[in-house]
Amino acid sequence: MNITIVGTGYVGLVTGSCLADNGNIVTCVDIDTEKVRAMQQGQVPIYEPGLEEVFERNIKMERLSFTIDLAQAVATADIIFLALPTPPRDDGSADLSAILRVADQLGPLLKHYTVIVDKSTVPVGTAAQVRERVAANASVEFDIVSNPEFLREGFAIKDFNTPDRVVIGTGSERAREVMRELYNAFTDDEHPIYFMDENSAELSKYAANTFLTLKISFMNEIANLSEKLGANVDDIRRAIGSDDRIGRRFLFPGIGYGGSCFPKDIRALHRTALDNDYDFALLESIISLNAHQKIVLVKKLKQHFGDDLSGKTFALWGLSFKPDTDDIREAPALYIIDSIIRAGGRVVAYDPEANENVRKHYGQQPGLTIAEGAYPALEGADALLVATEWSMFRSADLKRVAKLLRQPAVFDGRNIYDLETMRSHDFHYESIGRPKVTRAKV
Ligand code: NAD
Repeated sequence: MNITIVGTGYVGLVTGSCLADNGNIVTCVDIDTEKVRAMQQGQVPIYEPGLEEVFERNIKMERLSFTIDLAQAVATADIIFLALPTPPRDDGSADLSAILRVADQLGPLLKHYTVIVDKSTVPVGTAAQVRERVAANASVEFDIVSNPEFLREGFAIKDFNTPDRVVIGTGSERAREVMRELYNAFTDDEHPIYFMDENSAELSKYAANTFLTLKISFMNEIANLSEKLGANVDDIRRAIGSDDRIGRRFLFPGIGYGGSCFPKDIRALHRTALDNDYDFALLESIISLNAHQKIVLVKKLKQHFGDDLSGKTFALWGLSFKPDTDDIREAPALYIIDSIIRAGGRVVAYDPEANENVRKHYGQQPGLTIAEGAYPALEGADALLVATEWSMFRSADLKRVAKLLRQPAVFDGRNIYDLETMRSHDFHYESIGRPKVTRAKV
């Protein structure tokens, strides 16, 4: 099929590359001219494991191309995917301006029956709005489909190729058949495709993300309580996770959820509830618990070093909101950097993939240095903070860490080190929901 992807970010580029890999002819459109130029020259603009290979293969086979020209890109399209940003507005609602602007443009550009698929995360009612906008200027038949994306950054290629499920929201039998054919290669009994009405499809994405943040927040609460009671959250996690009804996954406590999706999606659903006179109290709790959890490591730091951190330098490992991505949107690390600098301290930060994005985010920020390597970040620092569980940090040479730090203190927001190991290296070690390790030789 001929496919056009409008918006070539994490979702659009993965979707386009994987659909091309399946034999479709895919044209990706973006308004970011620099990004498009880079992609035309064969450069992948984001870090996503496995993407580069798929991207390069399909450019070579002339199944994947990039343009800034929307009219040219949609002229021959059977399906147009909208993979556009839906950032939060001040009141928490999703900003649909990019989607509605493109919807306004599409009508006159359609040359034959086309299925327009919304892949962005959007509130209930958006498909109806897009339909109205396109219809205002269209002279051919078209259908609107809601097809929310559930991929995880870091596993995006695998998630797209072998999805837990594909959700298709449409009332049109014709569009349903087009989508069934498109996803045929990606779905089977284990990877089902669910057809439903468009409102349910739109809401299903928010429901999934809310449930995941609920799991995270619940375990963070159990972790915080464990610290007060002298319990070990690792043991509790294993004990409850072995119950099938609970499940082992997503039970790891930490320093709060971040990223481009969870924070904005929870706030958007909260807004939707308010706008529909529904008091979704659980959402408010999740939002405020997470705000607290993002700075829990800095609280521990202050309890150890005092509220005034001037004259102190802290090494920070991990800046992306989770491992295997360079995405720093709403990353807990940014909140940690800001809080330390506000308290007078200095931060020397390092991430294997996100350094550049952090540099762009802060510009020249007094108190913040970006290190070129994990170990150089440690030299002369008063403590190491871990904000993202990249595997290179898990397998760090702890002897070297202890030697490079001014004092061997580690504040681990992701529980990546074993308590006994930290004790044997004589670290002061604080993590989330587990007993503190104190130094024997002080
Ligand atoms: P992104 O910010 O990485 O990419 C969006 C792209 O759209 C950018 O390249 C931008 O230049 C482009 N763009 C903006 N306006 C445009 C326009 N008028 N015409 C053409 N291009 C335009 O966003 P993303 O992370 O890919 O997310 C896209 C949507 O998918 C959001 O609604 C998000 O919530 C949802 N989503 C994201 C993820 C994820 O892991 N990132 C997962 C599931 C769903």
